[in-house]
Amino acid sequence: MSLAEVEEGAGARLIDGVAVARAVREDLKSEVAELAARGIVPGLTVVLVGEDPASAVYVRSKEKTSVELGMKGATVRLPASTSQAELEALIDRLNADPAVHGILVQSPLPKHMDENTIVRRIDPAKDVDGFHPVNVGKLLIGEKDGFAPCTPAGVQELLVRYGVDTTGKEAVVIGRSNIVGKPMAALLIQAGVGANCTVTICHSRTKDLASHTRRADIVIAAIGKPEVITGDMIRPGAVVIDVGINRVPDASAPKGYRLVGDVHFESARQVAGMITPVPGGVGPMTIAMLLKNTVRAARQAGK
Ligand code: NAD
Repeated sequence: MSLAEVEEGAGARLIDGVAVARAVREDLKSEVAELAARGIVPGLTVVLVGEDPASAVYVRSKEKTSVELGMKGATVRLPASTSQAELEALIDRLNADPAVHGILVQSPLPKHMDENTIVRRIDPAKDVDGFHPVNVGKLLIGEKDGFAPCTPAGVQELLVRYGVDTTGKEAVVIGRSNIVGKPMAALLIQAGVGANCTVTICHSRTKDLASHTRRADIVIAAIGKPEVITGDMIRPGAVVIDVGINRVPDASAPKGYRLVGDVHFESARQVAGMITPVPGGVGPMTIAMLLKNTVRAARQAGK
């Protein structure tokens, strides 16, 4: 089903992540041009260890988009046999390189590596993924010079650009991962635009999930399981943001599967006021926010 076909039907207004991501990239283009005039070219280096095919696609897309915006996008590809010490030495070199403003080590790393130690090795000022404990702390404290993880930052950008009034609203985040759920909640409780919410975090041990989602003005699902949130769990008029990307078998689809979110789209859109589709909702925002973080890293470095 195309976005246009979905739009024609009854129900919730669709939040178009493809269009918002494009708008974010357009804004970045002029920022990059302005920095270029001062002799600064924002540089993002992505490190990919091993051969994970999904990661390879994602990494290519990051490099391509950064180059399109006039930034310097580089990818360092290392074999799966790379040692922890070799990867740490590479990070040290990137930390010291003034032309590199953002460093991203693509997850998952091969099993013999300790991802936590690697994340802590990256200079927090270049940690555009926002996973270094210094940036996690800054996010919680509300210090603006840190970097928020890209997917929850993308969700907040969608709320802001669609004019969702978040102040004083009940937001229910489902999922407590360090990548999505926890930073999402940390963003929404801050004072500011696209925030000021009263936040509840639900997770796999939450009792009676529906009792929480039903009173939410904003539901953000980051569960990683297909179509858990159904229309009967949504309060009429609520804003529903679906972070989930799940493959479900579908013999009629060319690839033998289709992508669905953590929300049961068809039932939820009958009740919600606004809703993100999957694909085409939150997904496209992640790379846009990564580049936004990188441009700010370059601006803050001032060189
Ligand atoms: P995760 O597996 O690390 O976390 C899932 C969370 O959901 C856990 O905290 C768990 O407690 C909770 N959970 C599981 N089952 C539940 C249930 N039945 N009821 C309530 N809570 C439950 O996953 P993640 O990394 O946070 O990602 C979540 C989803 O978002 C995945 O589908 C992932 O593919 C997707 N994702 C998308 C993007 C993007 O759009 N660019 C980025 C990151 C993650």
